[in-house]
Amino acid sequence: MLLRMSTLLLRTLREDPADAEVPSHRLLLRAGYVRRAAPGGYTWLPLGKLVLDRVSEIIRTEMTGIGDQEVHFPALLPAEPYRTSGRWTEYGDDIFTLTDRKGAEHLLAPTHEEMAALLVKDLFTSYRDFPVTLFQIQTKFRDEARPRAGVLRGREFLMKDAYSFDLDETGLRAAYDRHRAAYARIFTTLGLDFTTVHAASGAMGGSGSEEFLAATPVGEDTFVGCTSCDYAANTEAVTTRAPAAGDPHAHRATEVHDTPETPTIASLVELANARALAGRTDWTAADTLKNVVLTVRRPGTESAELLVIGLPGDRDADLKRVEAALHPATVAVFDDWPAHPELVRGYLGPQLLAKHGVRYLVDPRVVVGTSWLTGANEPGRHATDVVCGRDFTPDGTIEAAEVRPGDPCPACGDGELTMRRGIEVGHIFQLGRRFTDAFAVDVLGPQGKPVRPTMGCYGIGVSRAVAAIAEQHHDDRGLVWPAAVAPCDVHVVAAGKGPQLDAALDLGERLAAAGLRVLVDDRTNVSAGVKFTDAELIGIPRAVVVGRRLADGYVELRDRATGERTELPAADALEQLG
Ligand code: ATP
Ligand code: MG
Ligand code: MG
Ligand code: MG
Repeated sequence: MLLRMSTLLLRTLREDPADAEVPSHRLLLRAGYVRRAAPGGYTWLPLGKLVLDRVSEIIRTEMTGIGDQEVHFPALLPAEPYRTSGRWTEYGDDIFTLTDRKGAEHLLAPTHEEMAALLVKDLFTSYRDFPVTLFQIQTKFRDEARPRAGVLRGREFLMKDAYSFDLDETGLRAAYDRHRAAYARIFTTLGLDFTTVHAASGAMGGSGSEEFLAATPVGEDTFVGCTSCDYAANTEAVTTRAPAAGDPHAHRATEVHDTPETPTIASLVELANARALAGRTDWTAADTLKNVVLTVRRPGTESAELLVIGLPGDRDADLKRVEAALHPATVAVFDDWPAHPELVRGYLGPQLLAKHGVRYLVDPRVVVGTSWLTGANEPGRHATDVVCGRDFTPDGTIEAAEVRPGDPCPACGDGELTMRRGIEVGHIFQLGRRFTDAFAVDVLGPQGKPVRPTMGCYGIGVSRAVAAIAEQHHDDRGLVWPAAVAPCDVHVVAAGKGPQLDAALDLGERLAAAGLRVLVDDRTNVSAGVKFTDAELIGIPRAVVVGRRLADGYVELRDRATGERTELPAADALEQLG
C-alpha cells in the first residue's frame, strides 16, 4: 500500500482545536485522523480509518481464534424485543428511538443481547448445538448525556460485542475465561497499559463482571489496585468483606430495598424519615459516619430518586444537613438544578461523589450509574434507594464504592489500595439467564427435558480503543503509534524536489512492493520543515528522510518513539526497513 501526501484527504492543523481538551482528541484532530461531523459523531479520515481497521482486525483475529463466529445484526431494530427485556425503558434517555412511516417504534441499538438471544432461539433447538458464541463489529448508538473527548465517548461508535451461550455455569465460566484471556492478548497487542478490574454489573444485571481499563489521567473511571496482591477494582465495585459478627453496621443491610411504586418527593421524605432517620441514632452513636438524605427530583416531574449518603466531616453540621434534607419544605435545597449541574447531567459517578467528599456504598440490585439520573422513572424499577455507609456489607452481595487510597486491600488484607484513573476499553459480563428468560430460549436437553442456556456478553470499544492508544502513545510533538496499529509502517519524506522527490517515490514504491504500508510525503508546496513537523504529528513509527545527503548516496532513518536518527546508504534502506 502506498499513500501520497500530495493527494491524501488530509489537512493537519497547527493549532489546538479550541474544544479539544484531552490529548488524544487534540492530536487525532490535528493530525487529520478524525473530523467532527455531528455532536458525538466523527468522520474517520483515511489515516484514521486505517488505524481503526487495524484495531478491528486484531480484535477479529483473536475472536475467531477462540471460536467466536462473526455475524452482523441490524442497528435499526423494532422496539418489541427491547420492551420484552425491559431495556426499552431501562435505558431511558440513553437510547435513540424513532418511529417508522407506519407508526411502529424502533431504536438504534445501544447493544445487542436481545438480538443474539432471539437468533439462537430461532435457529438452535438441541443441547447438541451448544456452546456457541457470536460476535460482531458494529456501529452502536447511545444518546450519551455527555459526549466527550471526540471518539472517546461518542453518540455513535464502533463496538465489538460478543454473546456466548452455554448450557450451564461451568460452560459460561469457561467462555468468560476464554474471552478474558483473549481480551488481555488484544489489549497487549494494541500496546495498551491496562488493568483488569472488578466491575459493578449495573444495569446489565448478572453476576461476574470485569472491565479492562487503560490507565490515563483523563479516564472517566477510577480504580484501585493493591500494593501487595493482584486485586484491582473499579471504585464503583470495591467489594468489602462481610461484616464480622456483632458489627453494628450489619443490620442496615435490611434497609436496602426497591421502592414498589414511583416515588414522590413526599413519599421519599416519608421513607427517609421512617428508615434512614430511624437508623440514624445508631450511626451517630457508632461514631463512624453521618447520614445525609439527598432527594433528587427530575425537572418537570413529581418522581424522584433518593440517595442516602454518608458524609465524613463535622458531625454537627452534617446532622443539621440531615434535618434540613429530611424536612419536606427544604427538599428544594437539592432541587436547585442550576446549582447542581453535575446532577442533572446525569452522571453521578465516583468522581462526583469524591469531589463532594462523599463516601458511599451502592446496592448493585438497583440501577445505578450513568442511567441513574437520566433514566426513566419506571414504577418499581427506578426507585433507587442507594444506602451508603462504612463497612456496610450485609451478606457479601453488596458492593461498596466507599474506598480511599491507603485503605487496606479487601482481598488480601495486607496491602494498601492505590487509586488511578482509566478509560474503559472493554467489559465482560457473566449475564446469566436474564435474556434467555425474557425470550424463553429453551432447547431440548439430553434427557428430553428443556434446558435454558445461560449467556455471557463481552464488549470492546473499538473506536474508543483508538483514542485510548493515542492517549497512552503521544508526546508534545504528536502521536507515537505502536507498530501494530500505525496507519503505515514507514513515512518516506522527500525533503526536496527533483531527484530527492524521485528517489523518495521510487523508494516508497519498492517498500510497498515488499509488502509494507507506506506514506510518501511528495508534496511540493510545503517546506521540508513543515514535512518533518507533520511526520512527527502523524506519528508513523519510522520515517526515511530523502534529503541533501542523497547526492552522496545517503538517506536518514528516524525512529519516532526514540527520536534516534541514523544515516544509511540509500541502497540499504529497503533491506533495513523490509
Ligand atoms: P461507559 O462506562 O464508558 O459509559 P459502558 O459501561 O456504558 O461505558 P458497555 O455497555 O460496557 O459501556 O459497552 C462496551 C464497551 O463499549 C465499553 O467498555 C466501551 O469501551 C465502549 N463504549 C461504551 N460507550 C461508548 C461511547 N459512548 N463511545 C465509545 N465507546 C463506548
Ligand atoms: Mg455508558
Ligand atoms: Mg462503564
Ligand atoms: Mg461497561
